Amino acid sequence: MSQKSIRAKSFTKSKDHICQHTYSKTIHSYGRYQLNRCLECGIIFSAKFKSVDPNSVYVNYYQNETPIRFRFGIEFIVKAFRLFRAFKLFTIDPHAKKILDIGSGRGYTLLFLRKYFNYDKTVGTQIEKHAYNFSKNVLKLEIYDKDLLDLNLPKNSFDFVTILHVLEHVKYPEEYIVKIKSLLKKDGHVVIEVPNFDSWTRRFCQEYWLGLDLKYHLYFFNKMSLCGLLQSHGFKIQKVHTFSLEYSTFTSVQSIVSWITKTDSVFFNLIQGNTSRKNTLPHILLFALLTLPVFLINLLLYFSDSGEDLLVVATNDK
Ligand SMILES: [Zn+2]
Repeated sequence: MSQKSIRAKSFTKSKDHICQHTYSKTIHSYGRYQLNRCLECGIIFSAKFKSVDPNSVYVNYYQNETPIRFRFGIEFIVKAFRLFRAFKLFTIDPHAKKILDIGSGRGYTLLFLRKYFNYDKTVGTQIEKHAYNFSKNVLKLEIYDKDLLDLNLPKNSFDFVTILHVLEHVKYPEEYIVKIKSLLKKDGHVVIEVPNFDSWTRRFCQEYWLGLDLKYHLYFFNKMSLCGLLQSHGFKIQKVHTFSLEYSTFTSVQSIVSWITKTDSVFFNLIQGNTSRKNTLPHILLFALLTLPVFLINLLLYFSDSGEDLLVVATNDK
């Protein structure tokens, strides 16, 4: 038997995932979910991506009424992180004035950019109805409740496009990259953040890894596959990080606690105000015990590719 026919026999031949490459292989099966990896570019995709309509899934994603999303004073911390995010964008390009934030949450980053960093155009997209109403009616932002691919925005007009913890949710991420490129000015920046599939807790917590979230996530990236996707569309990679002050420690601790207790993100649900009949005390104690050591481990991994959170900053090199 020839090499080629052996390949064709042992791997699924599929031309309908994002990269349009020919061969993929099933790498994990978690219950009814199956993850496949493209053997050419390394992008990992959930086998169910063809049958879902992500936009209908997120209409009530935030669950409870804004403006308060989190309990126990965590709301204040979240706002402080949004201010910090606005400041980080300022440090990347202090002259930027126009930004599109895809999946703009409740809009605080855009608000802070407008208020404290002299932005004159702050546009967001938000398909979740509570967050959309809040951003539009309370914060008075320019927000669209449409998918990016259905939006008509002026081309070559933005200094920044940010898409943070969104790309893993969308059905056609490559079309997003193409559209983002068309909206950016030359030398404008795209900032992408996704869970890092090469993270240290994903490797040993497996299906208990918080970043997996198979109910919602359709794609998974590591440094190589995300940078490769951007480079194939004419972006120049400026910066790659796998440590996030906001996400890393929480993701690692929640994954480890879920793995120890064989439960599904009880603490995360608790701080979002979701009622649970489970006894939450052991989860709170484990969180208290693990937070500092896990923070230190993530800090040690700062210069590695094994942190929890993959952040890529790239410029439009057209
Ligand atoms: Zn591929």
